[in-house]
Amino acid sequence: MTSVFTRIVRGEIPAFKLYEDDLTLSFLDINPAARGHALVIAKPELPGLLDLPPELVSAVALTTQRVARAIVEALKPDGFNVIQNNGAAAGQVVFHYHVHIIPRWEGDRSVKLWRPG
Ligand code: ADP
Repeated sequence: MTSVFTRIVRGEIPAFKLYEDDLTLSFLDINPAARGHALVIAKPELPGLLDLPPELVSAVALTTQRVARAIVEALKPDGFNVIQNNGAAAGQVVFHYHVHIIPRWEGDRSVKLWRPG
C-alpha cells in the first residue's frame, strides 16, 4: 500500500515543499492546525518511531530543527509544538512516519491539541 506521503516524495501529488534531502522531506500540512503548520517525513515508508533505524531518527530530528528555525524566523510565532503520533489510538491517520511542527501564538486557543483524524 502506497502512502499519500510516498506519492508526494515521488512527485505524483503536489505539496508545498519547505526542505528536502536524501532521507527527509518537509512540506506544509494540507489541513493546518495553525498558520505555517509543517510536516517532516522520513522518505522511506515506515509507520512509526519504533520502526525507524537510528540514521532516520537523526535525520528527521535535524530536519525538524532546521524547518522549525526557518518557520520561527519567517512567522515569528510565540512558540511552537513538535508532535508525532504513533498508532491510531494516538491519533495517527497517515501511517508513514512524520513529525508535526505547529506554530503557536499567545491566546490561539482555537488550536486543539490533539485533534485525532
Ligand atoms: P492527524 O490527521 O490526526 O493529524 P497524523 O498524525 O497521521 O494524524 O497526521 C497526518 C497529517 O497529514 C494531517 O495533519 C493531515 O492534514 C496531513 N495530510 C494528509 N494528506 C496530506 C497531503 N496530501 N498534503 C499535506 N498534508 C497532508
